[in-house]
Amino acid sequence: ADEDLALLEGEVTDDEREVATTLPVLAVVGRPNVGKSTLVNRIIGRREAVVEDNPGVTRDRVSYPAEWSGRRFTLVDTGGWEVDVAGIHKRVAQQAEVAIELADAVLFVVDATVGSTDTDEQVVRLLRRSGKPVVLVANKVDGPAVEADAATLWSLGLGQPHPISALHGRGTGDLLDAAMAALPTVSAHATPLPDGPRRVALVGRPNVGKSSLLNKVVGSERVVVDDVAGTTRDPVDELVALGGKPWVFVDTAGIRRRVHQTSGADFYASLRTQAAVEKAEVAVVLVDASAPMTEQDIRIVQQVIDAGRALVVAYNKWDLMDDDRRPFLEREIEQQLVQVQWAPRVNVSARTGWHTDRLVPALERALASWDTRISTGRLNAFLGELVSAHPHPLRGGKQPRILFATQASTRPPRFVIFASGFLEPTYRRFIERRLRETFGFEGTPITISVRVRE
Ligand code: GDP
Ligand code: GDP
Repeated sequence: ADEDLALLEGEVTDDEREVATTLPVLAVVGRPNVGKSTLVNRIIGRREAVVEDNPGVTRDRVSYPAEWSGRRFTLVDTGGWEVDVAGIHKRVAQQAEVAIELADAVLFVVDATVGSTDTDEQVVRLLRRSGKPVVLVANKVDGPAVEADAATLWSLGLGQPHPISALHGRGTGDLLDAAMAALPTVSAHATPLPDGPRRVALVGRPNVGKSSLLNKVVGSERVVVDDVAGTTRDPVDELVALGGKPWVFVDTAGIRRRVHQTSGADFYASLRTQAAVEKAEVAVVLVDASAPMTEQDIRIVQQVIDAGRALVVAYNKWDLMDDDRRPFLEREIEQQLVQVQWAPRVNVSARTGWHTDRLVPALERALASWDTRISTGRLNAFLGELVSAHPHPLRGGKQPRILFATQASTRPPRFVIFASGFLEPTYRRFIERRLRETFGFEGTPITISVRVRE
């Protein structure tokens, strides 16, 4: 039977094995109305038009999994910012800066029917200075008549303009070929070395105490880069020895530099969080325990889960906690963070340093879970018992049978269950709950996908 399982295990596809942390990032940048959203929708194959007709509404998601000719990458949509004509130069430039910071290559979109504007030229300067690969997109070339307009964009000095119609799909295949040629196969942000220090993102909404906690934790402990061999590190990251081990806190520049409050600030904060989380293996989501939890807190927790990173939730400002506030906090945690009951929770005070020493053990537990691999034998023994005690409910006289399961990857743990029919969501959740009860997985998201075999 073991041989059978080994054989079947071989049938798990490569994309299931692929670790999201290595996917390169392609960002779409450009002025409002040049067609960025339309292009993003076309690339990710989204049917419904989500072209923003309601400026001012900040989109929650800014990055999407995408694929072209067998290559997978992360597409970052920077188009979710508010349109405000007065501050337009600054805003577009800011958007480009963030995109440059987090991308491995940039799709710069220009409206060919308008030609290049001052704003476009300002962005071009930023892009060229960054040294990142840029693919120039001449959009709205709906037919041959507009081709000549596209050619004038050579003047931007970014090389060949790629004429496309994001609306009709014209030329987008060639564009994506060019984008794939520009994009490295592995993200520069990705892949910590197996023996290198573990990478932590400290995230949370403004004023929860990120920079206070960073200062407290880093304190006098900062170590020189060269002290740890084999570290690839951005200058924005900080290397710290904690609990006798080196840790890298990623993207700390964004924490130390107080980001200027503009009307698009939330959106940029969300992009920065995303970038930090994607560069890290584990995220500490800092929440202000002394104030009501907000939607933004929940959204940040969700960003960590979606990115598949290990998670620790730290309730800060505990020194301000009093008996009146406490029951409210407990209720908020129960009601709003039920989906992450598995995350280790630490109560801290960045101001006094109270309990900040509990952070490292929590990080270690979460990372150990994130790395966990359950052998196929153990997993199937567990499922066999579970299924015989609690079979899937009958549906239309039929009962889907679980044939076998395997863990396709770690970091985070991903499981694939092969079954004779679709499993109901409640049953999947039941399996997840039992997996967690049996194997722990404290501090890590896990995913379960089901493959139906006839
Ligand atoms: P964004 O603000 O850059 O994200 O631009 P949108 O994707 O929202 O597009 C702005 C407008 O341009 C919308 O009305 C789109 O339908 C239109 N548009 C986008 N791409 C094309 C295109 O290739 N051809 C034409 N004719 N219109 C387009
Ligand atoms: P950031 O925007 O998340 O980096 O937050 P800061 O670290 O700048 O903190 C925002 C404010 O909260 C500052 O006035 C801090 O002094 C205060 N603060 C941070 N941590 C604590 C804490 O544990 N207790 C109290 N009472 N105040 C704190």
